[in-house]
Amino acid sequence: MPPSPAPLLTPSTLTTLVFATLLLAGLALRLWLASRQIRHVARHRGAVPAAFAGRITLAAHQKAADYTIAKARFGLLEMALATAVVLGWTLLGGLDALNQALLAWLGGGMVQQLALLAAFALVSGAIDLPAQLYQTFRLEQRFGFNQMTPRLWLADLLKSTLLGAVIGLPIAALMLWLMGAAGRLWWLWAWGAWMGFNLLLMVVFPVFIAPLFNKFQPLEDESLKARVTALMQRCGFAAKGLFVMDGSRRSAHANAYFTGFGAAKRVVFYDTLLKQLAPGEVEAVLAHELGHFRHKHIARRLAGMFAISLAGFALLGWLSARGWFYTGLGVQPNLMLPGVPGSAPNDGLALLLFLLAAPVFTVFLTPLLARISRRHEFQADAYAVAQASGADLASALLKLYQDNASTLTPDPVYARFYYSHPPATERLARLPVAMQP
Ligand SMILES: [Zn+2]
Repeated sequence: MPPSPAPLLTPSTLTTLVFATLLLAGLALRLWLASRQIRHVARHRGAVPAAFAGRITLAAHQKAADYTIAKARFGLLEMALATAVVLGWTLLGGLDALNQALLAWLGGGMVQQLALLAAFALVSGAIDLPAQLYQTFRLEQRFGFNQMTPRLWLADLLKSTLLGAVIGLPIAALMLWLMGAAGRLWWLWAWGAWMGFNLLLMVVFPVFIAPLFNKFQPLEDESLKARVTALMQRCGFAAKGLFVMDGSRRSAHANAYFTGFGAAKRVVFYDTLLKQLAPGEVEAVLAHELGHFRHKHIARRLAGMFAISLAGFALLGWLSARGWFYTGLGVQPNLMLPGVPGSAPNDGLALLLFLLAAPVFTVFLTPLLARISRRHEFQADAYAVAQASGADLASALLKLYQDNASTLTPDPVYARFYYSHPPATERLARLPVAMQP
């Protein structure tokens, strides 16, 4: 038997203490990392790093430094705000007040619980809006990346809100129903339903959802098509189609990706990528992406997501039955007395508290996940070098770094913690072909 706790330290106050401490510790850690990044990039702004001399102009290097610093500074503000919002919802009583107001209005039942989730999503979205507007129309605009008009921005917002309601409300209702009706092992059922929903979304997204926001056209450049098809055959990869997406409608940042799985698998190039890269470079970038498939990174990431969410649901199943989980996070749980008027289930509250509290703990896993991801990037690069040209991959990466104004001199500690892709110097140093002008 563990020693009995001091009388004042109830499970509820202990929960509050641990939660508040980790929330503030996480904020302090991230603020410290961001200020390191800002200082480091500013210190190296004056000169292009030796490894890139002659390949990157001083002007491009300084633009990348300024962009990185501006983003990181804005990030400081966003982090502080996000922490305040989490505190506001939990310990300061925001979620409790919302729940009580909706109980008084709608009584306790499925409608009230759905209203609670929807109201939470709407309020959170509204709080995020000013930061989003600033980021798009000030920050990205200032560095020449934004291509969005306010009209398109508004149309996107309306569409995604509507889509969120059409997709989100039924799955939320299913979750709440399982929580109430599936017995002690509801979390296992809910996990199964959630995973099924995610797999379905992977099939539905490229074919039905993405086209609501962008135009997808079959790749028409015949010589590039021949090259890309030959590469995919060489690598034993079958895709349903090669598409070009009008990414330039929103942003000048370039990208390429695979989407869907099984029969719905397709390769999507941003038009911005095709404009910036020569055909050989496009082939090398695609070979890198194929490397992720060949090394089963996608499947492993999916399996990891399955495992993590199973653990999450099991934890939620356990926590949702403890009173201190609610009171410790600033919420008065509803009374649950079958047949008694005014009684209401706590499932919606439990879901929201879990969503709010989980990141406070998982932030400390960031460096571990980033490290795994960086290892995968090195493996995909090695695969690309074997299947395509290493020199093309190097010059493609360099162009992408430059066109996206990614800094070549990140703070090493910051990069270790966050970077899902290795910093440019480490990445290019591993490519066997030396960079030549
Ligand atoms: Zn990659």
